[in-house]
Amino acid sequence: MTFRPAPVDTGILFVRTDLAPEVVIPARIDYAGESRLATRLEKGPVSIMTVEHLLSALAGMAIDNLLVEVHGPELPIMDGSANPFVFLLQAAGVEAQSAARRYLRVCRKVVLSEGDAEVSLSPHDGFRLEYTFVHDHPLIQHLIASSAVDLTTMSYIKEVARARTFGFLADYEAMLGMNLAKGGSLSNAVLVDDQGVVNEDGLRGRDEFVKHKILDAIGDLYLLGAPLLGVFRGVKSGHAMNRRLMQRLLDSPNAFEMVTFAAGDDVPGAIKNVDRQAVAI
Ligand SMILES: [Zn+2]
Repeated sequence: MTFRPAPVDTGILFVRTDLAPEVVIPARIDYAGESRLATRLEKGPVSIMTVEHLLSALAGMAIDNLLVEVHGPELPIMDGSANPFVFLLQAAGVEAQSAARRYLRVCRKVVLSEGDAEVSLSPHDGFRLEYTFVHDHPLIQHLIASSAVDLTTMSYIKEVARARTFGFLADYEAMLGMNLAKGGSLSNAVLVDDQGVVNEDGLRGRDEFVKHKILDAIGDLYLLGAPLLGVFRGVKSGHAMNRRLMQRLLDSPNAFEMVTFAAGDDVPGAIKNVDRQAVAI
């Protein structure tokens, strides 16, 4: 994978450089395909799998414009978190561009429920995520199940980026069956079996699982194509519900608007803390 700078209004574009001719797939909800265990973008027969952790890093670092060249159908999983991507992007450096950022502001609550799982987006002057992780595995009951991250006042890099993917042995076997996660190992995910956490070094915190769900949601929501102003709430939800929630938001009349804030504008509360300039590497 190679990152390249991109001009204002490019957005995030993935480029499959292993194909001739190369295929460009925008990181937008209209290109999101069916998936349960990871987020996939597709254009005709060409797809790119597992884009959510990089998109999360880009959203968390407020990067609006970037070309992501990928030589193959799946992004490198790295350590299963967004931290290696943050490290690379910081090493490359980011640059403010000559355009105001365009935000997608949630104007009206949108909810989606499936069984005991629920996701919603509500109006908020900032970007906040709340997640409740529910699992009946007896050996992970001591973990912190609920967490809230307000990205207008808290650091994405400190609070979110390091939380790794976790998986249950059965899901891992299912992914191998779908020809995914072939490089999967204990160096790029936290694995839970009947006995509990398998990884010798344990967790990066008692909230690592719930924080990873927030990391995933930040990445998925970036498929809206603009930074969000609103609150995301999730209970037991995952990529597929995130995708349907975004679709519902876009399909609901008057549920959102696109806004920009120019210098000197009377901007509401927490938005004052948000970077207002478009950024590229
Ligand atoms: Zn993930």
